[in-house]
Amino acid sequence: MTSFPAQARRVRDSTLSPQRRLYALRECALHCAPYGFRATWHHLIVAARIPRRLSDDLDALVRAADELQRTRDVVLQRAQEYAALRRREKATGKRLPGTRPPWNSWGWSQIAYCPDPEHHPTGPLATVVQAVLDRHDAGVSVDRHCLACGIERHRPGRACPTCGVHPGGPAACWRVPLGEERWRRVWRRELDDRPTPFVR
Ligand SMILES: [Zn+2]
Repeated sequence: MTSFPAQARRVRDSTLSPQRRLYALRECALHCAPYGFRATWHHLIVAARIPRRLSDDLDALVRAADELQRTRDVVLQRAQEYAALRRREKATGKRLPGTRPPWNSWGWSQIAYCPDPEHHPTGPLATVVQAVLDRHDAGVSVDRHCLACGIERHRPGRACPTCGVHPGGPAACWRVPLGEERWRRVWRRELDDRPTPFVR
C-alpha cells in the first residue's frame, strides 16, 4: 500500500484522521515531486491552501492530491508514448533511442528541480511539467532558455531567476539551505508571510 494510487485514495478517505490523510499526501508528494520534495510540498501548501489546522478545510488535502494526480498523468502519458515509440524503433532495427526522455535523464519526479523550496513556479504543477516536456521535445536548449517558464537565460548553470527551476536538476548538487526551523514552519503550514490576496 505504498503506491501513488493507494496513497491518493487514503488522502481522499474521509474515514481516516486528518493527520493520516496528510501523511498519505506526503507519500504522494514523495512519489511525484517535479520540483523536488520540499519545493513541491511548499507549492502544495500554498496552491491548495492547506490550513494550519487541517480540520478547518479537509478538502484542501483532496485539492493537493488532485493536483499531483493531474501532474503524474501528464508524465505517465508521455512515458507510455515514449515506450510505444521505442517499440516501433526497435521493430525497424533501430536499437539506440532517437530522443532522450527527460524523466530518464533528470529523474521523472524532479523534472523541474527547484533548489530553493520557497522559490518555484506559481502556476499549476501539471501545466509547468507539460511546458517543460513540450520545450524538451521541441529541442529548446536548456542552456539558452528556461524550460519551465521560457525566459532567455543569461547565466547558464544557475537557477532561473524568474521561476527558480535549476537546469541541472538535482544532479547539479546545488541547493539553497533552508533553515530547519523555517522548514518546520513550512511543514506546520505556518506561512504567515505568504502573499495575501489583494483586498480592495
Ligand atoms: Zn524559469
